[in-house]
Amino acid sequence: VAKERGRPGFVQFDNALRERAVERLTRENELLRAIERDELVVEYQPLTRLSDGSLYGYEALVRWPHPTLGLLPPAEFIPLAEETGLIVPLGISVLRTTIRDIAGLASINPDVRVSVNVSVLQLGDRSVENAIRSSLDRYRVAPANLVVEVTETGFMQDLDIAANALRRIADLGVDVMIDDFGIGYSSIARLSELPIVGVKIDRRFTKNLGADTQANGVLAAITRLAHAFELLVVAEGIESSEALAVADKVGCDYAQGFHLARPMRVDAARAALLTFVSQE
Ligand code: C2E
Ligand code: MG
Ligand code: MG
Ligand code: MG
Repeated sequence: VAKERGRPGFVQFDNALRERAVERLTRENELLRAIERDELVVEYQPLTRLSDGSLYGYEALVRWPHPTLGLLPPAEFIPLAEETGLIVPLGISVLRTTIRDIAGLASINPDVRVSVNVSVLQLGDRSVENAIRSSLDRYRVAPANLVVEVTETGFMQDLDIAANALRRIADLGVDVMIDDFGIGYSSIARLSELPIVGVKIDRRFTKNLGADTQANGVLAAITRLAHAFELLVVAEGIESSEALAVADKVGCDYAQGFHLARPMRVDAARAALLTFVSQE
């Protein structure tokens, strides 16, 4: 690289590289400030119980209202947070906000369950466990109202550390589910040794449900296997009535997806819960 420094074409390249580095540093500083000022927003996407079509709970999904770039989805800043270590304070902030919101939701339906995504990179120390314990206490929320989702892929890289952290979270009375299940190709037998109650089947396996009989068969097989290990199954990414029908037919326990509902602010989540409660 040094040898090539002098070549004219590379001056521009260096500038572009420098610009990107500055941009990244700026973004990192902005994200740190947003976390410190408690500016991150949590939206809630409904999960439907397939046996009766009732509203089972929500998944908490973080968004960053950026001053100039608009409302950024997690894909635009979670990777940066993971690379810089900001994922730890970010994760604590999301847990606190969500548990605070659960207090309001549980006052409408005491059985509501709200899941929060936790990065494996947050499991290296006790910050998640401590944040959960202190927020449950502070907002008087029952541990049964909270669920933690951990992604399968990162997870397998350091199984022991993650397994211990998950065990301590489970010991608090908080259920743990494996997220994006199916894309990491880890053995379900191995997963079943962990203190988990279920798996969320990745969108990749639900997006072609309906006409594609092979996709239907794969979902059926994964569901049967998970059930054999006494794990609950959530089908993610349900985008059509056909997909919903297949997820139900093959025995998935819960479904989540744009066909059912989009992620929404907590006020709307409360309203949706109220509608359901009054229907019963
Ligand atoms: P995930 O945990 O698998 O969450 C589901 C994602 O799929 C969400 O995207 C949701 O909006 C989207 N989704 C739901 N239904 C459908 C559908 O029918 N079709 C399509 N195409 N998409 C659907 P979102 O909110 O952009 O989040 C993306 C990922 O970012 C999440 O995937 C999760 O891995 C991560 N994430 C979100 N919030 C947090 C957080 O607070 N902490 C951490 N560590 N990660 C988070
Ligand atoms: Mg998730
Ligand atoms: Mg998922
Ligand atoms: Mg997913």
